Amino acid sequence: PEHIRNAIVLPRWVRVNTLVASVDKVIAKLLEMGYAEDTDTEPSQLKGKTFQRDKHIPEMLLLPSNVDLHANPLLLNGSIIIQDKASCFPAYVLNAPRNSVCIDACAAPGNKTSHLSAVMGNTGKIFAFDMDKRRLTILQKMTKRAGCKNIEPVLGDFLEVKVTDSRYKDVEYILLDPSCSGSGIVGRMDHLIDQNTSAAENESEEDVSAAAAASEARVAALADFQAKAILHGFQFPRVKKVVYSTCSKHREENEDVVQNVLAAQTEFVLAPNAFPQWTRRGLPLFDEADRVIRTEPSEDHCIGFFVALFERRSSAQPTAP
Ligand code: SAM
Repeated sequence: PEHIRNAIVLPRWVRVNTLVASVDKVIAKLLEMGYAEDTDTEPSQLKGKTFQRDKHIPEMLLLPSNVDLHANPLLLNGSIIIQDKASCFPAYVLNAPRNSVCIDACAAPGNKTSHLSAVMGNTGKIFAFDMDKRRLTILQKMTKRAGCKNIEPVLGDFLEVKVTDSRYKDVEYILLDPSCSGSGIVGRMDHLIDQNTSAAENESEEDVSAAAAASEARVAALADFQAKAILHGFQFPRVKKVVYSTCSKHREENEDVVQNVLAAQTEFVLAPNAFPQWTRRGLPLFDEADRVIRTEPSEDHCIGFFVALFERRSSAQPTAP
């Protein structure tokens, strides 16, 4: 397909799974394995046995794009997880505190779930919904390998979840990463194959075919679902924050969805200070577009991504990080 022929080379991003190892321990192990820290080279030009630390997210490291990690002991023992930098923004921005109760609304295969679990230090609880049974099984396998103990997988349609169900009465944080067109996905074919899982289990597979097939009607239908899912998240009685993300570059699934959701209710607003260190903000399509986050693959060395953090008006306050 076109988007693969015109590929931008992304470095190989790995997230240190802080439930299993510290960043320092992983770096020590890489050095022991003969890797060297390279602080100067442009991320897309990294070569050989080198690595860099990320400037924005402390638990992210980057390696050369062609590095083969599938037999790397750090991957096999769950110390590192292959995950694009941008796909680590949602859990980082949501920053759910220890002992909180969360929902990951569209969770499988669980990369963001295990990140959220690590952010919470394996405390509290994450209800991880997905309506696809096969993918939810992969989530169970992956989060187990990652050492997560605070996740309850739930098979089902998030839109059908009863917000008054007593099981969800203490839910304060929601991560919502719904199906999208995948139009922000870039990279070589081999980048798209997630080495955490077999190719058949890969999240990106769906996204790649989705990107190729993206049509106006499909994007419109996705945008409709995305807005519904955000508004449903707002209905949980104690929810304080909802982070919404896509790996789409289409405004229809990003800024437009956010604007529609803001116009449809008054209780939730965009957090005024989400991820202030990140300078690439939303397309200037509405007043508060600088409150949302975008990535640009050719400049940010990660997939094309969009993040919006909503918070309940009554609890509106500067958010960290
Ligand atoms: N957050 C995941 C991660 O980081 O590993 C990736 C999620 S993927 C973009 C979207 C997921 O939403 C798919 O697994 C799909 O099965 C699920 N999904 C789509 N519609 C849903 C719905 N109405 N309720 C629950 N899950 C849904």
